[in-house]
Amino acid sequence: MDDGLRARWERLRDRVDDACRAAGRDPGEVTVLPVSKTFGPEVIREAVGLGLHRFGENKVQEIRDKHEPLADCGIDWVMIGHLQTNKAGVVAQLAAEVQSLDRPKLAAALEKHLHAQNRVIDVLVQVKTSDEPSKYGLDPEQLPAFLDELGGYPTLRVRGLMTLAINTSDADVVRGCFRRLRQLRDDAAARGHDLPRLSMGMSGDFPLAIAEGATEVRIGTAIFGARPYPDSYYWPERS
Ligand SMILES: *Cc1c(COP(=O)(O)O)cnc(C)c1O
Repeated sequence: MDDGLRARWERLRDRVDDACRAAGRDPGEVTVLPVSKTFGPEVIREAVGLGLHRFGENKVQEIRDKHEPLADCGIDWVMIGHLQTNKAGVVAQLAAEVQSLDRPKLAAALEKHLHAQNRVIDVLVQVKTSDEPSKYGLDPEQLPAFLDELGGYPTLRVRGLMTLAINTSDADVVRGCFRRLRQLRDDAAARGHDLPRLSMGMSGDFPLAIAEGATEVRIGTAIFGARPYPDSYYWPERS
């Protein structure tokens, strides 16, 4: 069996399509965001050759390192990892989108830098949907006020919500996190916030996320293969 990038990508897209049909949804409704963290420019360039042009990265430093050697590829870099406020300037300059917007201070910093650079970007608000103590993400109770506050930031186009499910093999618990994000979105819609996008689901749990209404799944391992670092490197609080 050909185990190259193309084969893995096509197999993954087939599985996403299957999950959509199993959930009674149109596969055209669900986008895959390839997560290229830890993989270098050569691999990403190969993925560009497959027609992919949006890539999720977890660390600002990786976007910084990769954007230049890939400048000819027209890539949209999507920030999906915890973002320190003092890195907001780099992100405002290099990222097409931020999915890990999780606090007022970060929103203010992004607004300041984007305004200075005369740029407007799409953002998703990352919400904590599990009761794990130290997971990044906004507390759900704070979402209504935060959404109202973001209305005052013209450089941030708020398009939806993002979450990471709890790290457990209990499918019901994982699915509960995704359901909670959808409910938070529906509640916000009832208050007049239009949030069409739900970014939820990764290689290990995307069918559950699709069943709960994901419009976008963030997939690393199933496309690019195993990473050279353990996930505790990205999610220290999970180690
Ligand atoms: C790494 C990462 C993913 C993708 O994880 P896989 O299990 O490799 O598919 C998704 N979302 C975030 C925030 C990540 O850091």
